[in-house]
Amino acid sequence: MNFIDLKLQYQRLSDSIQNCMTAVLEHGHYIFGPEVQAFEKHFAQNMQVKHTIGVANGTDALLIAMMALGLKAGDEIIMPSFNYIAAAEMAVLLGAQPVFVDIEPKTYLIDPELVSAAITERTKIIVTVDLFGQCADYDRLQEIAMRRNIPIIADIAQSVGATYRQRQVGALGTIACTSFYPSKPLGCYGDGGACLTSDDRLVERMRQIANHGQTERYCHQYIGINSRLDTIQAAILLAKLDIFEQECAKRSIVAEHYNCLLDSIGIEPPYIKTYNRSVYAQYTIQIDQRDRVREALKARGIPTAVHYPTAIHQQPAYRHLPKRVLPISEQTAKKVLSLPFHPYLTEKQQKLIVDSLQNVMYSSG
Ligand SMILES: *Cc1c(COP(=O)(O)O)cnc(C)c1O
Repeated sequence: MNFIDLKLQYQRLSDSIQNCMTAVLEHGHYIFGPEVQAFEKHFAQNMQVKHTIGVANGTDALLIAMMALGLKAGDEIIMPSFNYIAAAEMAVLLGAQPVFVDIEPKTYLIDPELVSAAITERTKIIVTVDLFGQCADYDRLQEIAMRRNIPIIADIAQSVGATYRQRQVGALGTIACTSFYPSKPLGCYGDGGACLTSDDRLVERMRQIANHGQTERYCHQYIGINSRLDTIQAAILLAKLDIFEQECAKRSIVAEHYNCLLDSIGIEPPYIKTYNRSVYAQYTIQIDQRDRVREALKARGIPTAVHYPTAIHQQPAYRHLPKRVLPISEQTAKKVLSLPFHPYLTEKQQKLIVDSLQNVMYSSG
């Protein structure tokens, strides 16, 4: 059994993937080929946003967004500590200071009231993260951010395909950033990412930053980087977009089945707010003795993962920042366990996983 099975999706799509890759190999525009533009347009429509820029990966997408919004040394940038490392890392690279805030205990999402309390004169950006595939509370976050005129970067790497109050995720922040790493809900077959916005000025700036700060060929107006979504990855993404909505629907069905199985053994399923549709980038539960349970599952051939074992404010590389105590993030990191999850997981596999979990949990240890 695989934690995420990408081969099953490939088997389903192999003809269209092979055709679109062959088309790229034959037309030869390996960088900025027509598939890149086609994908940017199509993806922007799907995500209900005006513009998409393909970039090299999700981490670059965050860096480019931060640079376009003018983040610089001495600025503060508010973000959750219970998260993947990318946003904090890019902020520190720019000399800014991440201000970590705690999460809501059941959803793992940034707590808007704590964001409000963390705002200072130096706050330049708020980063929200739709962790595990469910959207943060954007209406409340926008209200808080707008009062102070602070832009929001929405990290949607785990929530592409999710909805927030019937809205797609592309336009929920000032800029949204995503990753097409293969195991994300929408992934390619290598590295890829995108920045999304409806702001005409910001999109232009981000395109320039992603292309060495050029405003025209060999005229470098800004300090930039080199970050491109290559044509083959764009072509693969176009093929995958065709079945993406179906896959999101399947994700909901797989999750519902897990929910029932877990209920029956007394484990709380992930908590999704009524106005949200999650894409379950991770299907994550909390259990005591997590590490023991995880080892025992592994011995039975059930792969699991821990997202994330350490909150960022407790990571060695971030110890230079002012000390913070974020009890919910710290406790959550000790208990979370992500179960195998993908749209092609069968009911039989799910039953095996949950039966094994029950056996392992209630055996003494
Ligand atoms: C995967 C991920 C990223 C980074 O994406 P890469 O393409 O690996 O650089 C950033 N933020 C979140 C929340 C992610 O899940």
